[in-house]
Amino acid sequence: MWGRGGDVFPIALGGILVSACAALAAAGQAPAESPVPPFAVSKLADGVYAVPGDTGRGSEGRPNAGFIVTHDGVAVVDAEASPLQGKRLLAAVRTVTPAPIKWLILTHHHPDHMFGAIVFKRQGAAIIAHPDRTFLARENGDEGLVADWDRVMGLHELQGFAFADTPTIPVPHDTTLVLGGRRVVLYHPAGAAHTPGDLAIWLPAERVLFAGDLLIEDGVAMVVDGNSGVLLAAIAHLDSLGARVVVPGHGRIAPDPRAQMVLTRVYFDSLRASMRRAVERGLPMAHVLGALPPPDSGRPISLASRKQRNAERVYLEMERQVMGASP
Ligand SMILES: [Zn+2]
Repeated sequence: MWGRGGDVFPIALGGILVSACAALAAAGQAPAESPVPPFAVSKLADGVYAVPGDTGRGSEGRPNAGFIVTHDGVAVVDAEASPLQGKRLLAAVRTVTPAPIKWLILTHHHPDHMFGAIVFKRQGAAIIAHPDRTFLARENGDEGLVADWDRVMGLHELQGFAFADTPTIPVPHDTTLVLGGRRVVLYHPAGAAHTPGDLAIWLPAERVLFAGDLLIEDGVAMVVDGNSGVLLAAIAHLDSLGARVVVPGHGRIAPDPRAQMVLTRVYFDSLRASMRRAVERGLPMAHVLGALPPPDSGRPISLASRKQRNAERVYLEMERQVMGASP
């Protein structure tokens, strides 16, 4: 999902909150690549780190990212919302290891997760992503997306921007990669869940899951570019993995790894049931949306706006279902 950058809320999750300065001092090296301040890092498992974004701002907050240190180099998970944020993410990696950045894995192609990708491509990283880069806000092409995102982030954030989300290692379906001796399982839902190009990243040895925007801290994931039925099936699959740590696309990494899955399931189950009832009773969509809290003006992904947009999408899904056009 999309959101403006914001403050950093470091969290420690059953591990170590790494102090950038201490780590640099210990390594005896300067942050050569970048003079920007690093984002905070949270250790999730041996060699596996989260770079937590904002907490408490839902989809509007800076996304979560992460990285995996392997024998052959570093695999970064998601690239943040701008080259400036990408540089701060790179600086965060450098507080832990000087190893080369060999791979960037993208959970999907929304701009807040990939506009910093160019920073890692310039480091020589291979881009691992689903090849389907389409979503609604890209309907005016890459140029239109940059213009829109410039308005959200500001020119300063986007200096040095170039697209780098086209995969050099395309992953169109479930794939297990071995990166520098570490098994990395990439899961693609059976269809478009959050977007057509979703990948969840599962580390079976460490039982750490990077869910991308299939999960959001408040349970209100968005299906504007996807489908609620596909999303629910995807979450059921992710739940079956038995993760020890689940990193959502945005917001707090909950102490209970299932918490956000349960919230998301309950929300979409209830939304689908109520939209289906509305369609079966012949209630027009405008009536149904009018009964919900109004969307926030100028904030297309605030909580109220997300609920409105999801309701509209799910109403249409249920309409097709009731007409017998889809299962
Ligand atoms: Zn997204």
